[in-house]
Amino acid sequence: MALMTGEQYIESLRKLNTKVYMFGEQVENFVDHPIIRPSINSVAMTYELAHDPEYEDLMTATSIFTGNKVNRFTHLHQSTDDLRKKVKMLRLLGQKTATCFQRCVGMDAFNAEFSTTYEVDQKYGTNYHENFKKYLEYVSENDLTVDGAMTDPKGDRGLSPSQQEDPDLFLHIVEKRPDGIVVRGAKAHQTGSINSHEHLIMPTIAMREEDKDYAVSFAVPSNAEGLYMIYGRQSCDTRKLEEGADVDLGNKNFGGQEALVVFDDVFVPNDRVFLCGEYEFAGMLVERFAGYHRQSYGGCKVGVGDVLIGAAALAADYNGAAKASHIKDKLIEMTHLNETLYCCGIACSAEGYPTEAGNYQIDLLLANVCKQNVTRFPYDITRLAEDIAGGLMVTMPSEKDFNAPKIGEVCKKYFKGVAGVPTVNRMRILRLIENMCLGTAAVGYRTESLHGAGSPQAQRIMIARQGNIQQKKELAKVIAGIKE
Ligand code: SF4
Ligand code: FE
Repeated sequence: MALMTGEQYIESLRKLNTKVYMFGEQVENFVDHPIIRPSINSVAMTYELAHDPEYEDLMTATSIFTGNKVNRFTHLHQSTDDLRKKVKMLRLLGQKTATCFQRCVGMDAFNAEFSTTYEVDQKYGTNYHENFKKYLEYVSENDLTVDGAMTDPKGDRGLSPSQQEDPDLFLHIVEKRPDGIVVRGAKAHQTGSINSHEHLIMPTIAMREEDKDYAVSFAVPSNAEGLYMIYGRQSCDTRKLEEGADVDLGNKNFGGQEALVVFDDVFVPNDRVFLCGEYEFAGMLVERFAGYHRQSYGGCKVGVGDVLIGAAALAADYNGAAKASHIKDKLIEMTHLNETLYCCGIACSAEGYPTEAGNYQIDLLLANVCKQNVTRFPYDITRLAEDIAGGLMVTMPSEKDFNAPKIGEVCKKYFKGVAGVPTVNRMRILRLIENMCLGTAAVGYRTESLHGAGSPQAQRIMIARQGNIQQKKELAKVIAGIKE
């Protein structure tokens, strides 16, 4: 099948029969729901740009299965060049949406599954790699969006999956049948899950033998029996329900999405199972997926950062403060921080290497350093953006006030900045900054920078493992002339 357009993607969601709950009720038509639709538009951009000749090289690739042109979001990285293009593609999409466009989790899961299933089969003679290849060919030829799902609710963090009082706090196998398995549990804060055609499930942590029922990986479609989702609410989300809302939304067209995905005894046929009890490979899958996703943040967050830096610069223009040296310096600082993140994304890609299965893996240490920086720099960038924007960003009256017959003129008069710039432009840019720093898009920028792709401590564990302090000690001993 040819690459879908954005519109075809949106229409394809209508046919899925996905079960979605929000505000305590089942949502009848999630595709046109004003709170959900902006997040669908963000994913649609990953389809739309693939048809633009200007971006074709970044947005598409050649299928290793069929030789057909496929969307890069369904591609297995074949070189370090592919890894770099991935980062550039995510930066581009961040620039076009100013939020999380969600489709990367699937791409990162494909690449982790491809190499891990190969190594499991080498050890156990299982058939997971073939299962997975068939599955990915189906996904890429049909240009599907897939929720790469890893994070379990986790309950008591001091206990392993099998030690939890409630066994469902980590997703697990409840029954093995001749034709497949039955699973129960949930995956939490799943990016883009409602906007996905398919869900590719992975374990969330390294496991021991007693947890082997939790060492499971598989794929199911959105309409699988027993599968449903509960929408995660976002700061200022109900502004989208206000009639005629536009300026107050900051980013009217695009948004991110997270949801709780519940598996209430879902059946998975054998040919869609990619790990089933081989517990010692759970850690490999986690490490590889997390590595790819930590690389991703060196692209997407940089693109969103580009928009935020531009918005801050415009706010300064509209305030008449653009020539002040401290404003110029703050914009330099924001750019420096943002480009440092990009350097990390490119570096861990350039240092990539082929796996045993043949696709390319990023440099794990550098990808974890990348994400560790992402847990910090966007906070500095948002602080500087809010500094430049000024307090009006959080004290400005509503769009309705600006449009009201009598007080509207008063608002326009007193909130005007430099002459010649309409007050509404100033409002728009301040609301955009608010949206990215505090509103619905803060989910995909500020707070997601901290917790998405693993909270800061997860990267520090990997940095400790990969940092090779012993080798560094040896270097110091040689220089210091220490002989033992
Ligand atoms: Fe993609 Fe970034 Fe969203 Fe993750 S946070 S899904 S990498 S846009
Ligand atoms: Fe994320």
